[in-house]
Amino acid sequence: MSPNIVALLYLTASVCFIQALKGLSHPTTSIRGNLFGMSGMAIAVLTTAALVLENVRDTPLAIGWAIVGVVVGGAIGGRLALRVEMTKMPELVAFMHSMIGLSAVLVAVAEVAEPWAFGVVGKGEPLAAGNRVELALGIFIGALTFTGSVIAFGKLSGKYTFRLFQGSPVRFSGQHKLNLLLGLATAYFCYEFVATQAWAGILMVLILGLALGVLLIIPIGGADMPVVVSMLNSYSGWAAAGIGFSLGNSMLIIAGSLVGSSGAILSYIMCRAMNRSFLSVILGGFGASAESQNAGASQQRNVKSGSADDVAFVLGNAESVVIVPGYGLAVARAQHAVKEMAEKLTGKGVNVKYAIHPVAGRMPGHMNVLLAEAEVPYDQVFEMEDINSEFGQADVAIVLGANDVVNPAALQKGSPIFGMPILDAYKAKTVIINKRSMAAGYAGLDNELFYMDKSMMVFGDAKKVVEDIVKAIE
Ligand code: NDP
Repeated sequence: MSPNIVALLYLTASVCFIQALKGLSHPTTSIRGNLFGMSGMAIAVLTTAALVLENVRDTPLAIGWAIVGVVVGGAIGGRLALRVEMTKMPELVAFMHSMIGLSAVLVAVAEVAEPWAFGVVGKGEPLAAGNRVELALGIFIGALTFTGSVIAFGKLSGKYTFRLFQGSPVRFSGQHKLNLLLGLATAYFCYEFVATQAWAGILMVLILGLALGVLLIIPIGGADMPVVVSMLNSYSGWAAAGIGFSLGNSMLIIAGSLVGSSGAILSYIMCRAMNRSFLSVILGGFGASAESQNAGASQQRNVKSGSADDVAFVLGNAESVVIVPGYGLAVARAQHAVKEMAEKLTGKGVNVKYAIHPVAGRMPGHMNVLLAEAEVPYDQVFEMEDINSEFGQADVAIVLGANDVVNPAALQKGSPIFGMPILDAYKAKTVIINKRSMAAGYAGLDNELFYMDKSMMVFGDAKKVVEDIVKAIE
């Protein structure tokens, strides 16, 4: 294939990726965005495969390895994607980030070992200084992304028994100083590698990158994990761009930079949504303290509770209802029942809207995806900044499996989530909250909303409760 055709195909794929990002910025255009993304990726993969086949035409063993890689990797990826539940998506994303980080490290180490195999220098010749800088950065970012994502996976899944990998933050005195020291040491060893191309320097960069990945993520509290996942997404993009430089592949450089920069922008937007400073995220060590994580669990207070019939009565008599979906709705897979409930109410002349908090659920956009799956009309779905002013006039706010995102503790100084913008459900005339128990939400905090005079709890699995409400409305 001529270099011009390759460049043209890569350019087409890049334009598709940019269109994909544009499309994914709104639910109404997201399907188009996904189609652009899939087309771009198909063009990129096929072009690269054709290039690889051309380069290794005389070495059937290399072709065999490439095919084994595609088949085994594709089969594992496909199986994981088909089996994953929506609520486990952030873990899958964290796992994928770790694989990208590991790939970046392996490719870069291979290039340090045999640079001539990558066509960047002749056999026995030293690497150019520019290549060494790329490799040092690629190995550092890749290693940090790998271990950081492994820790994030553990924190999100809660599967590991080792304390470092669990949800609660691990803090010790001098943590930031240690991180700074390791950062400076990394800069020194990068310099040493660039100056000498010695293995000792690059191995130290690798070890320090692996260590910093762990140290930066362990102090982060559960409530701040969404930003971390998005930040690691950005790192994995830069790691992929690093591989692109190592392999001399412009497509990887462009796609990696797009992921890197869009991930960084998303992290910034989420930081603003949670009232966190971007710098403190990058440096690690923010979030709810270990003590506050369990603050809510022990309290025993009385709440008003009702049945599905009570809820149906209240909803049926309302003029305006705002539905607040949260993580529990996703766990219960109650989105279809909720849509049915909303349709029944709309049929009775009730004005129904959905309020979406930017970090409701366990990944950015989780609630939008969930509601879109149930084909909830987009014009009924409102983002936090657009709906918050309406809670004051709403007759009923019905909170389904949400907790932190409606917790008025965020308004109180001293609370671990102080300053995090919330959905102002507490301003509605009546508030109905469905969850299974009085257990705390992800941030581990008690929620004053449940104890307000105008609040009514409806205990039970969201799907069952909403289905019962639908029956009662009928
Ligand atoms: P929360 O985790 O705060 O609350 C969810 C509530 O749902 C729980 O209190 C739980 O109570 C209830 N619940 C669980 N299962 C069911 C069920 N089957 N039926 C009914 N209720 C159920 O979720 P929110 O959506 O309010 O807030 C999201 C939290 O997750 C935030 O702290 C956010 O920072 C964090 N997070 C967000 C990510 C993102 O990107 N969006 C990623 C990672 C974390 P009970 O057990 O009593 O039923």
